[in-house]
Amino acid sequence: MSENIRVLLPEEELAARIAELGDQISKDYEGESVFLVCILKGASFFACELAKRITVPVIIDFMATSSYDGGTVSSGVVKIKKDLDLDPTGQNVIIVEDIIDSGNTLNFLGQLFKDRGAKSVRMVTMLDKPDRREVDVHVDYTGFTIPDQFVVGYGLDYDQKYRNLPYIGVVELD
Ligand code: 5GP
Repeated sequence: MSENIRVLLPEEELAARIAELGDQISKDYEGESVFLVCILKGASFFACELAKRITVPVIIDFMATSSYDGGTVSSGVVKIKKDLDLDPTGQNVIIVEDIIDSGNTLNFLGQLFKDRGAKSVRMVTMLDKPDRREVDVHVDYTGFTIPDQFVVGYGLDYDQKYRNLPYIGVVELD
């Protein structure tokens, strides 16, 4: 059985939309600074591109969570695998996610940063799969809304493969 990747969102479309999100965030936080929390590994490509498009001062830090245990369906229980190095207290935290699916990860993280004393907490996701939502989460900035398909590329993996693709694609098995 071979895997074929069908392009869903080409590189140019991603770049244009990320620039728009950066503009919007820069306007919304004018006169302030932002503390980007990049959720590893999937959001790393998106977070770096987004950070370059934000014109207010940016601090960036990284955190890893898990809810998938290697499969393609969320287990519902979110664990912190790697915590931040920096202190988010008093910061305008923006949680940067690759994709929101069940909503469990962002729901957990939103509460976590409120509990940790952030000045404000917002969320940005590159992709949203609303069909699979299990918990109601308010996401402030969304790149693209996509159908219920397992996607790879631009940081997203399938068994650790395909993160380096410069576009978002769907894995098709022949
Ligand atoms: P949630 O907690 O919202 O169910 O899932 C969030 C996480 O699940 C994402 O950060 C991502 O790591 C993973 N995920 C959800 N949907 C997909 C998908 O279509 N492709 C890949 N590669 N990961 C996904």
